[in-house]
Amino acid sequence: MSTGIVHLVGAGPGEPNLVTLRARELIARADVLVYDQLVHPELVKWCRPECEVIFAGKTAGCHTVPQAEIEALLVQHAQAGRRVVRLKGGDPFIFGRGGEEARALASEGVAFEIVPGVTAALAAGAYAGIPLTQRHTSSALVFLTGHEDPAKPGPSVNWRSYGALKNTTFAIYMGMGRLRHILAELVAGGLAPTTPAAVVQWASLGRQRSVAGTAATLADLAEKSGLAAPAIIFVGDVVKNHEAIDWFERLPLFGRRVAITRTRDQNSELREKLETLGAEVLELPLIRVTKEVSKDGLIEILAELGQYDWIVFTSANGVRIFFEEFFKGFEDVRALGGLRFACVGAATAREIERLHLRVECQPATATGESLADALITTGSLDHAKVIVVCGNLNRDTLVKKLEAGRAIVDRLPLYRTEQTDLARDPVADDFRTHGADAILFASSSAVQSFTDQAKSLQLAKTAKRPLAGSIGPQTSETMKQLGMPVDFTAKQPNLDALVAALVKTLSTSPNAKGSAPKTARGK
Ligand code: SAH
Repeated sequence: MSTGIVHLVGAGPGEPNLVTLRARELIARADVLVYDQLVHPELVKWCRPECEVIFAGKTAGCHTVPQAEIEALLVQHAQAGRRVVRLKGGDPFIFGRGGEEARALASEGVAFEIVPGVTAALAAGAYAGIPLTQRHTSSALVFLTGHEDPAKPGPSVNWRSYGALKNTTFAIYMGMGRLRHILAELVAGGLAPTTPAAVVQWASLGRQRSVAGTAATLADLAEKSGLAAPAIIFVGDVVKNHEAIDWFERLPLFGRRVAITRTRDQNSELREKLETLGAEVLELPLIRVTKEVSKDGLIEILAELGQYDWIVFTSANGVRIFFEEFFKGFEDVRALGGLRFACVGAATAREIERLHLRVECQPATATGESLADALITTGSLDHAKVIVVCGNLNRDTLVKKLEAGRAIVDRLPLYRTEQTDLARDPVADDFRTHGADAILFASSSAVQSFTDQAKSLQLAKTAKRPLAGSIGPQTSETMKQLGMPVDFTAKQPNLDALVAALVKTLSTSPNAKGSAPKTARGK
């Protein structure tokens, strides 16, 4: 008997944080992941490196992988004993052929599970400030499909009969190709031409755009603003609320494209901060951090851990790798003895505190120099034994200063920072083609990598030139040395200050809000 299973999972409307906890857990455990074009690429990154990732997307009218083939693929992998996650945009059972896939699995006797998702209409309503029902005026909600492709089989909607319904909100999927026709038919069926109506494109994403008018005016307005699929068309009295509660498109970074350049792991935190403010984020991981443990050094230090007074970390990666190695040798955290913890910045401190260990020394300014000063100020350094966990690129200043403070310092190199190659990266391609409003640098190594691969990141003539932002003095120094402009700098060297500097700079730089270039992502 096969132990394989297929999970038909709703991937939500776009914004990755709108998936269910179950979806996230299943993606992280999957052996095979099958997804299509409206699924956000971020979700695909949650799977294990060994997971086989299959794109089964369709573009309007042109099926890249025929439905029967997708079904056969799911059956085949599950029968081979694999855990298959089939991600479907929005909810699998709303205009998503999830039903057909489930039937195919059932008829082959393959085990399956269905995980619902936030369907596009719900997200479009929420993110455009359009409640879908409303006391007194709107007591019914109808989800309809506009059947973008007239050649597709299936019953066509009798729009006129829907036009006769009162107190109803219509949420129309896949209707942009026939927007004018749909609205005219609803009106011919009895809908008042003055009924409020709106289109919301790319709901929940940084490139969301919306227009609102009436059943009589919406087709012209949408055409003028160039709105197209994927979009939800809303028709009904509820659309009146849009003007008062359209919160998302008014966020400070809404409509802005911001490129971020840290490692894939570190980018998530910055991405989250920027997206909360409405930005569309382009991840250009210019560097990667790999474990590179000096075995002899590690064994020596771990064997004599009890003799050290302080352990100093300059990055969250250092903490992560140190404890991975530590727990290979020790089962009990008490083997750390009386070791005291010091670190440079907030992200590093958080990584230590996650293990319920107290950080006893962290400078107000997150630099190696300030940390050394702060440690000297504790008065505990004279003849103290100190471990400095480092990578291949750490500068000597910290160690030299500690030694000048009469500490006995042992370095423990645990990782290596390397440049990535973004020449064939799809997000880098998007950056080259459309540019961005800003690009953020949080380390000298990312700046160096950016200049080293200048050729493959060369912007197209029509692309928007980004303003360059730096997290702090060290990074700015490298930018200047390499001939890059520094358009803005964080007041303190941390991510929140960098984001604040970005918001301030962009609020005074011209941008037609909401007119960010369309990207190729997800198409
Ligand atoms: N199963 C999906 C719908 C798939 S049909 C769901 O539950 O959402 C594809 C259509 O969904 C698109 O043509 C568009 O009408 C709508 N859609 C999907 N994502 C969208 C988004 N982010 N914003 C607006 N409409 C979206």
